[in-house]
Amino acid sequence: MKNRNILWLCIAFIISGVLTYSIKNTSKNTIPTEGYRVYLEGKSIGFIKSKDELNKYINTQQERLKNQYKVDTIYIPNNIDIIKEITYDNQIDSITDIYNKINEISPFTIKGYQVVITKKNDNEKSDEQQEDTEEHADAILNETVKINILNKELFAKSVENVILSFVDEKQFNAFANEETIELQTTGEIIENIYIEDDIIIKETNIPVNETIFTDEEALTKYLVFGDNPKEEKYTVGKDDTIEKIADKSSMSVNELLIANSDLRSANSLIYLGQKISVGRVSPVFTTVIEKHVVEDQTVKFKTVTQYDNSMYQGQSKTKQEGRNGKTRVTQKIKMINGEITQAYIVSSEELVPAVNKIVVKGGKQAKRGDGAWSWPTNFPYIISSRVGWRWGKPHRGIDICGTGRGSPIYAAREGEVVQITYQSAGLGYMVTIKHDNGYYTQYGHMQNVKGNDRKGYEGSATKYIKVGDRVRAHQVIGEMGSSGSSTGVHLHFEIWDGPPYQATYFNPLLFY
Ligand SMILES: [Zn+2]
Repeated sequence: MKNRNILWLCIAFIISGVLTYSIKNTSKNTIPTEGYRVYLEGKSIGFIKSKDELNKYINTQQERLKNQYKVDTIYIPNNIDIIKEITYDNQIDSITDIYNKINEISPFTIKGYQVVITKKNDNEKSDEQQEDTEEHADAILNETVKINILNKELFAKSVENVILSFVDEKQFNAFANEETIELQTTGEIIENIYIEDDIIIKETNIPVNETIFTDEEALTKYLVFGDNPKEEKYTVGKDDTIEKIADKSSMSVNELLIANSDLRSANSLIYLGQKISVGRVSPVFTTVIEKHVVEDQTVKFKTVTQYDNSMYQGQSKTKQEGRNGKTRVTQKIKMINGEITQAYIVSSEELVPAVNKIVVKGGKQAKRGDGAWSWPTNFPYIISSRVGWRWGKPHRGIDICGTGRGSPIYAAREGEVVQITYQSAGLGYMVTIKHDNGYYTQYGHMQNVKGNDRKGYEGSATKYIKVGDRVRAHQVIGEMGSSGSSTGVHLHFEIWDGPPYQATYFNPLLFY
């Protein structure tokens, strides 16, 4: 009960408060107020107490603007009327309110120039885009950018800065000074630079509440990045250089320098953790640069393969070394905003002809040795079993014995160790080597590291090699034993012309 009473009391207070406020606001004073009504373009924009105060405020603002834009005259609207009035309405506006209203309706102006850039980009569009709605076509045609400046030189200088972000300064200067350059050997000459869009500069009174460019750096940045720059910050990392950062950000070094006024050149110092402005460059106008380019291009030599049936398959030798050639190429290049859009070769002259590399490869089946095969055991030896069938199963290699338990097993040819394993019901401790000619060799029944054939240990091969090793011919790769499915100490040796069990196996005796 008590709480409800308090609630009602509060609501009553709120209502009475609202009432008092509204009564006070709408009531007319019984005592008249003397002041000035301010008219702009014939319409009242407010009532002020003191005409002098407004004039003083306007003067202060004019001085501020004069300083800001370094001009002598600030133009105020000429249709302001300030008329003395006596009113019973006690509504008095502040001087700043009146000033702001004037600036909103008819701003103060300064003499300057308006640059109007109209993009001529519809002829660049593809057919598909041209079939767009008329509305869209209008939007393309009407794409204009308006820039307020106080002197024309500022604009000219900023345009030059933009162009310099696309071309080399020396080349630009030569073009600008109409120097005649003849290329003795290689190099580039700018033949033409032009802005593809319509640019009109007209003298006008610029409202001070609009953006007015007075600074070359700011205007250049605007011309390069546009109205709504997608500016991002890049944090300098350990091995970064200005060139690397520009590259990573898909910008030219000059674009990067324009985006970061504190960086003077590509050699400017940058420090770890420094934030650098990077972003998508979207120039306000379209710069076309036409260049004459002469450059020497390297012509890579070709490798020609000849086949010789007196050599075995897999064998090869270089009959003639290759040598790169050099060709001088003269080109015409058209760049739009720094990107090459057209390029064609005017002429080309061979300075140094390329020399083909000639490689001779063996075409003969490698039935017999090519000299690179090496016997896998010591001498003398005994062939205990040949390739053929044994107990209903193919015997895919030869068995070599007679050199004794633990005697070395050698790689039969240069190659790469691709397998060291244990096959309990097969070759026991064994090794597979892949050779450069595409052949594979396998060596079975080696003893283990303990010098016996029991499984559960590592094979003796692990004492000498590991998978992935390059081995020379006649390099020790293990020790003879009788592990796996074996009846006595011997080496089981296989040669395949591809991966074992997928390719064809040969009689190894034909290779020696
Ligand atoms: Zn065997």
